[in-house]
Amino acid sequence: MSGQAKSTVTLDLDGVLIQNPFGSYVVPTVLGHLERSARLAGRERAAAHRELRGAISAEWQRRMDRRDFVAAYHWDEIYGVVAEAYGVSGLPDVTRLVEEGSAQGHVHALPGAHQALHLLRERGLRTVALTNGYRRYQWPVLEALGLAPLFDDLESPEAHGYAKPQPELFHAVGEVLAHVGDTLEHDVLGANLAGVRAVWVVPELPGPDPVVAGEALANPDFSTFFGEMQDRAIYLRHHPEATAALLTPWVAVRNVLDGARAIVEQLT
Ligand SMILES: [Mg+2]
Repeated sequence: MSGQAKSTVTLDLDGVLIQNPFGSYVVPTVLGHLERSARLAGRERAAAHRELRGAISAEWQRRMDRRDFVAAYHWDEIYGVVAEAYGVSGLPDVTRLVEEGSAQGHVHALPGAHQALHLLRERGLRTVALTNGYRRYQWPVLEALGLAPLFDDLESPEAHGYAKPQPELFHAVGEVLAHVGDTLEHDVLGANLAGVRAVWVVPELPGPDPVVAGEALANPDFSTFFGEMQDRAIYLRHHPEATAALLTPWVAVRNVLDGARAIVEQLT
């Protein structure tokens, strides 16, 4: 590829390279503030948290239902709406909570994360994080895990006004060789809509092979598994544009390192 512009590989973050701190730190900390609401006085803590989680989820759902896929990832705003409804003020800044959670070990790199990024970069490829998580919630995690220096850039919805699977977010990156992601209806659908090869990371991948590609994607064992995974695709109802063909990846792999190997072996 000498003399040409470097080719770019885009990579999803959550479920591919990182475990973020929302589940074990950010959300529990936010709930700890919201539970002080006078509306919840006298309630069992577990019941209060259940109700609050329901309210957060309902606000996220409203945003998804109106197809405002960018606002659906604005967690300061979503928690803020719930705090207002419950008459609670002084909610902590989510970026600060992400930084605290990352510093306190509520994050980890997923198997093969560092090796995959090193491999792609050693082959002269640009690596760009392409995530529906806002930059201010994602970059601190990459820094805490030592992954930030292995990226050329990060593209996220708030900067462009589009979220995966909207192809405009992929187009914002420019020419992309392949996209690696774990969510069928965000990563595979989005990549296919954008005309980019989709590398689907699926830890439950059946069979002995690290990579399933081409005709093997159509064999009965894989298609049964693939059908089950589509049934579990929780965002699919928001994307009526998803056909079977648009949900079919270029290759399916068990982890990001196998995905990076497939890319360097077959595309470079
Ligand atoms: Mg993901």
